Amino acid sequence: MNAFRSNIPDKTFENLNINGDFTRLAVSPGIINKHYTPAQFQTIAKVVGEKGAIKYSASYSILLSIPTVEVEKTIEELEDAGLYVAKQGPIVEMKACDFCDGDKMEAAPITEKLYHSLKGITVPTRLRVNVNGCASACYNAVYDDIGLVYQKDSFDVYLGAVPMGANAKAGTLFAKKVGVELIEGFLKQIIELYQKHARPNEPFYKFYRRTNSADYWKDLILLLS
Ligand code: SF4
Repeated sequence: MNAFRSNIPDKTFENLNINGDFTRLAVSPGIINKHYTPAQFQTIAKVVGEKGAIKYSASYSILLSIPTVEVEKTIEELEDAGLYVAKQGPIVEMKACDFCDGDKMEAAPITEKLYHSLKGITVPTRLRVNVNGCASACYNAVYDDIGLVYQKDSFDVYLGAVPMGANAKAGTLFAKKVGVELIEGFLKQIIELYQKHARPNEPFYKFYRRTNSADYWKDLILLLS
C-alpha cells in the first residue's frame, strides 16, 4: 500500500517555504460548528489556488498554506464566507465539541461567552481550553490544557494533561461542579496564575505539574466553597 500514491504531498509547508514565503492559517467552520458548506469549500479552494496547499489537521481545523503577502486579503475572504481563522501565537485558544450537532446545546451559550471573554489573552505558551457538553467528553476535553466537562449547570475542570507525544496523558480532576455562573472568573484566575508564576515559554502542563502543591492552587479551590 502506498498511502501517498494518488496525492503526493510535494507542497508541504517546508517545501513551499524553500522558494517562497508562505503562512499557515488554521481554518474551521467555528468553535462549535464542525460542518462546512460546499460554498465554504469553494472559497477555500479559490484562496489556496494552484500556489498554496491544504492539509487536514488533528485539531478540528484545516491548515491552509497561503503566500504571506496575500494573508490579510485571504483572511477577509475566509471570514466573509463564515469561516473561523484561528489567531496564532502564545494566546488562549478555545475549542469545543459540536454539542451533538446542535442537539445538546445546554452548554453552548456559556461556551460562546467564554470564547469572547478568554480568546486572545496572552500567556507564556499557547493554552487550549476545551469545552465538552456532556460526560461522554467525546471531543477529548481531558486531553487539553484546561478541560471543561459540562454536567447540569456546572463544569468539572481538568488540568495538567500532556496533550501529545509518547507520554501523552489525560489531565486530572482539579475542581468538580463549578457552577456556570462561576466558571468564567474561575478560568481567569487559573490563567492569571499561569501568567504570573510560569517560567518563560513553560507549557501549561509543565507549569501545573511543577506548582500543583503551591498554596495558590488550594486557595483557588477554597474560593469555590
Ligand atoms: S461531548 Fe457530549 S454533547 Fe459534546 S458532542 Fe460529545 S456526546 Fe455530544
